[in-house]
Amino acid sequence: MTQAPQSPSLHESDGIFTAAVRHARRVAVLASVESLLGWDEQTMMPPAGGPHRADQAAELAMLVHRERTSVEQGDRLRALAAGPIASRGSVEEQATIRLLLDEHEKQSRMPPRLVEELARVGVEAQQAWVRARRESSWAVLEPWLTRTFALKREQAACRSPGLDAYDALLDDYEPGCRWRELTGLFGALRESLVPFARACLASSVRPDDRFLVEGRFPVEAQRRFVAGVARGIGFDFARGRLDTTEHPFCTSLGPDDCRITTRWCERSLPTALFGVLHEAGHGLYEQGLRREWYGLPPGEATSLGIHESQSRLWENLVGRSLPFWRWCLPLAREAFPEALRGIAAERMADALAAVRPSFIRVEADEVTYNLHVMLRFDLERAVVEGDLAVGDLPAAWNERFERDFGMRPPDDARGVLQDIHWSAGLVGYFPTYTLGNVCAAQFMAAARRALPDLDADMAGGRFLPLLEWLRREVHAAGRTLESGPLVERVTGSAVSAESLMESLRERYGPPHGI
Ligand code: ZN
Repeated sequence: MTQAPQSPSLHESDGIFTAAVRHARRVAVLASVESLLGWDEQTMMPPAGGPHRADQAAELAMLVHRERTSVEQGDRLRALAAGPIASRGSVEEQATIRLLLDEHEKQSRMPPRLVEELARVGVEAQQAWVRARRESSWAVLEPWLTRTFALKREQAACRSPGLDAYDALLDDYEPGCRWRELTGLFGALRESLVPFARACLASSVRPDDRFLVEGRFPVEAQRRFVAGVARGIGFDFARGRLDTTEHPFCTSLGPDDCRITTRWCERSLPTALFGVLHEAGHGLYEQGLRREWYGLPPGEATSLGIHESQSRLWENLVGRSLPFWRWCLPLAREAFPEALRGIAAERMADALAAVRPSFIRVEADEVTYNLHVMLRFDLERAVVEGDLAVGDLPAAWNERFERDFGMRPPDDARGVLQDIHWSAGLVGYFPTYTLGNVCAAQFMAAARRALPDLDADMAGGRFLPLLEWLRREVHAAGRTLESGPLVERVTGSAVSAESLMESLRERYGPPHGI
C-alpha cells in the first residue's frame, strides 16, 4: 500500500519525481505501440484484418488506460504537486508535474468500459467510413457516427465535468482553448476571408495551373522527387519513413521513428508534393522535440494547432513561395522533363496561387480552405451540444456548403463523408486546422523579422536557418506553454487572424488582379 506524504522534502521529492517520470515514460512507450498499430492499419493492413485489429487496439487501450490511472502514480503526482519541485523546480519539471497529474485525474474519471468501447468503435467505424465513402452511402456510416458522437459526449462528461461538452473534447487537442474564443477568432477571419475569396473567384484574371493538375507525373518519379524535397527541407529519413495511404497523416512512433504518408495522383503534381510538404512539416516538429523529455509534457507537441502551424508553414508559406521554387524547380524539371518543359519559377509560383472552389477540403486552395474547416467546426459543435441530430448532418452540410461556396455537393462522398475524423472519434479536432493556419502566418512573419536573409537562403536551398529558428522558438517549448502564450512569446502578439489575411492578400491578390 502506498501513502502520499503531505509535503515531501526536496530529497524525497527528487526520488518521487524520478519514479513518476519512469512510470510516465513506460506509459509513453506502450502508447507508441498503439500508434504503430494505427499506422499499420492505414498503410499496410489488409481489409479483412479490421476486426482483429479492433481487438488489439481495444486490449492495448485498456492496458494503457490501466497504467495511466495507476493508483501509485496518482499518489506520487499528488505528493509532488504539494512538494517543493512543483513550485521551485524548473519550468519543465513544474509542467511535468502539473500536466501528468491533470491527465491522471482526467483518465481516472473514465470508466474502463468507455475506454474500451471508444477504441473498438474507433477502428470499426473507420472501416465503415472507407466503405461508406467508396459507395457514397451515408446509410453505411450513420449508425456508427451516432454511436461515436454519443460516446464522445459521454467521454466529455466523464473527463471534464466542469466544461461545456465541446470544450472538453477540444481540450484534448488544444489544451486551454475554448470554443467561444475560437468563434471570435473565426468570425473575424471569416469577415475578411469571404469577400476576399469571392473577389478571387469572380476575377477575370486567373492563374493558369493546367500544366500542374492535368499533366502526366509518373508515380515512381514523384516518389523520388517528393522524398528529395522532404530531405531538402530537413526531414531526416534515418529517423523517419514515407509511405502510401488513403488519408495522409504523420505519426510518431518514438523519438527516432516518424512516419509520414501520402497519396499519389498521376495527373496532378500538387496532390503528393504538398501532401508531403505538409506531413514533413509535422515530421520536422516531431523530429525537433526535445528527446531528453521524451514521453513527458516538455517533450510533446504544444497542441494540434501548433502542430498544424508547422505543417502549414512548410506547405504553404515555404512551399508555395517564389524563393522555394527557385531552388525546387530544377529538381522538378529533372523529375518531370516533359510535363514541366519551359516552366519558370515565377510561372510555377503563380500557378500555385490558383483559387478554385473544391468540394474536398484536402484539395482546397489555401484561400478557401478555412471555410471548409469553419463549416465542420460549426456542425460538430452543434451535434455535440445537441442542437443538430447526426441524421441531419448531410442536409446541414450541403446547405452550409452552398451558402459558403455557391455550389452544392453532388453526392455525400464529396460532402459529409469525405473526412475520416468523425468516424475515428476525432471530434473537436477540425478547428485546430484553421488555428494552425493562423499561427503559421504569425510565426512566419516573426521568422522574417528574425532572419533577414530568409528568401535568399530558401532560394539557395538553405532551409536550416528557418528550421533552427523554429526548433529554438517553437519546438523546444513542448507543452511547457499552451498555444496562446507560446504565440505571444514568439511573435509578440496575441493569436489573431491579421497575419494570415495579410499573407493571403499578398500572395493571392496580385495573381488575381486584386
Ligand atoms: Zn496536418
